[in-house]
This record gives sequence, C-alpha cells and structure tokens, in this order.
Amino acid sequence: MGAFIIAVDGPAAAGKGTLARRLATELHLAHLDTGALYRATARDVLAAGLDPADAAGAAELAGKLDPASLADPGLRGEEIGRVASIVSVHPAVRTALLDYQRNFAYHPPNEAKGAVLDGRDIGTVICPEATVKLFVTASLEARAGRRLRELETSGAPADAAAVLADLQARDERDSKRSAAPLKVATDAVLLDTSGLDADEAFGAAMSIVRARTRSFGSSQA
Ligand code: C5P
Repeated sequence: MGAFIIAVDGPAAAGKGTLARRLATELHLAHLDTGALYRATARDVLAAGLDPADAAGAAELAGKLDPASLADPGLRGEEIGRVASIVSVHPAVRTALLDYQRNFAYHPPNEAKGAVLDGRDIGTVICPEATVKLFVTASLEARAGRRLRELETSGAPADAAAVLADLQARDERDSKRSAAPLKVATDAVLLDTSGLDADEAFGAAMSIVRARTRSFGSSQA
C-alpha cells in the first residue's frame, strides 16, 4: 500500500491551513504547509536584496532553503505573502521545491503513516495520486473577512479595502500563472467553507475523507 496522502488545495484565506493541521492531528499524519516554502523563499529573496522577478536568483535560494526555518513566525506577514505569490510564478522556483514536497509526502517524518499537504498544486502536480483531494474554497468576501479578523487579532494594521484588493491580486496571480496554476483537480472534492465555521469545515472534511477511504477499501482513516 502506498503512502496515505491528503491533498488540501485552495485560494488564500479559505481556511485550508487550519483544516489541514486538524486533519493531520486527528488522523496521526504529518503535515506540511507548502505555502511556507514559498514564503520562506520570498523572505530570503528580500533579505538578499534580490528583485522577486529574478527567477534564477529566487530559484537558487529556494534550492538552499533550510527546512528548520519554515517555522519562522515572520513568514505569516502580508508583505511576505505578496512576494511569495510573485516568486512562486517562476517555474525554476517550483522545480527547486518539488523534491522536498514529494519526499515529505512519500516519506513523512516521525514514521507517520502518511501526510497532509496544503497548497495550490498538491492534487494536480505534487501528488497527483493522493488518496484524498480536497479543494477548499470560500467567497472572496468571506475570505477577506477572515483575513481581516486575523490581522485585527494579531494587532497588525488592517484595512478592509486593502485586504480585499490583495486577495483578489493573489487569486489572479495564482490562477493565471502558466506553471502549476491554482485549479481544481478533476478528482478533487470541492468544500465551500463560506458559511461554515472551523468546526463545521473540519466535520465536512472528515466526512469526505471517510467516504473516500471507504470507497478505496482502506482501513487507514
Ligand atoms: O498559502 P499561502 O498564502 O501561505 O501561500 C503563499 C503563496 O505561495 C501563495 O499565494 C501562492 O502564490 C504560493 N504557493 C504556491 N503553491 C503552493 C503553496 C503556495 O504557489 N503549493
């Protein structure tokens, strides 16, 4: 039996990170927030004084990422997220980060029996043979409202119009790029969290995982 992999894809602020973490805890799987790889690359590009449009420079830094630096709380900032969505457009950056993601999925740390990966292209490019694929989405307004509350809670300056415009720009860049654009895998299950709180979204995701693993005849979840 291959590794048990759950792919959680979707646009920014749809709630996929929280959901992926909870699924991993519940099912005793390892978890990788793949956005952190692009954010860490963006951080290193900014620290090196490089232009995010410099594909070769960004790819070189992506290839040298220290996985220990992925837990850096500074990665969560809005500016890093914006630059991450620029460096992630470069095919060379995506290639530099591919092996790390696949290796994590197929050989998860701590002898976990599988992994949950959240991102934009997990079900389409990184793990096309994932056991379960969820595409987590929500309306632009619901996502902007959540992002605004997160910013307010963390004490960061928050401007509703700016948050909405930033999410729209990120959606546009993530969906329109030619390398691994954000799109729903043909065999993914769509989960719209617009009207759901975190517990309801988790319950819905668990039902999907159970239904899928039953239809695969697996006893793992
Ligand atoms: O998910 P998060 O907002 O942390 O991701 C930051 C950016 O990294 C996204 O806007 C997207 O451009 C990029 N990303 C990606 N592929 C992934 C994960 C993130 O291109 N698998």
